[in-house]
Amino acid sequence: MSAIGTLFIMSAPSGAGKSSLINALLDSGMENAAVSVSHTTRAPRPGEVNGQHYHFVGQDEFKALIEQGAFFEWAEVFGNYYGTSKQAIEDQLAQGIDVFLDIDWQGALQVKKIMPDAQGIFILPPSREELERRLVGRGQDSAEVIAGRMAEAVSEMSHYNEYDYILVNDDFDTSLAQLSAIVTARRQRKASQIAAHSDMLNDLLAG
Ligand code: 5GP
Repeated sequence: MSAIGTLFIMSAPSGAGKSSLINALLDSGMENAAVSVSHTTRAPRPGEVNGQHYHFVGQDEFKALIEQGAFFEWAEVFGNYYGTSKQAIEDQLAQGIDVFLDIDWQGALQVKKIMPDAQGIFILPPSREELERRLVGRGQDSAEVIAGRMAEAVSEMSHYNEYDYILVNDDFDTSLAQLSAIVTARRQRKASQIAAHSDMLNDLLAG
């Protein structure tokens, strides 16, 4: 376990499979990893649980949280407010837990400014046709909403170059293995290993 966890910023257009990849990584038994639960003013979708998928709050409450300085970053996305609370990440990072943020490009820019060591990962769909198929396949939104989301997806995808890593999510298992490899490589960095194994290193080098 590293002394200080890494903040992984995950962004993607809606339908690229970002949430599924993060959830699958955590379900795969990877230790010391957690996903941050954001606050949002949008209404819950069917099956979404308050406190698990999001903290669903009203506009007034969200604005009060902004004024209290409770957010690490926040942004308006698709006409709703979304934000990552400081509390959601700081305690876990300090305990050496890697934290995954599922946020948009505006939030990613803010996080990179505050924490340049954060690692940005952008997930792309393999093609425009496949993205459209996945958006329709959800079956939760009207044709008008889907068309709007396609336009927003193109706008989100135009920011891929602001991230450290790019995953093209064609085959899910391949993308999951690639995501896991990014996290594992990060944990093997010298600074993390020295912090995690300081006693062992002293012992190995004792004269
Ligand atoms: P959805 O409404 O589909 O769950 O999310 C819409 C978009 O908002 C996605 O791109 C998602 O990553 C982004 N988002 C979710 N939570 C946050 C957050 O806390 N901050 C920012 N900046 N974006 C977020």
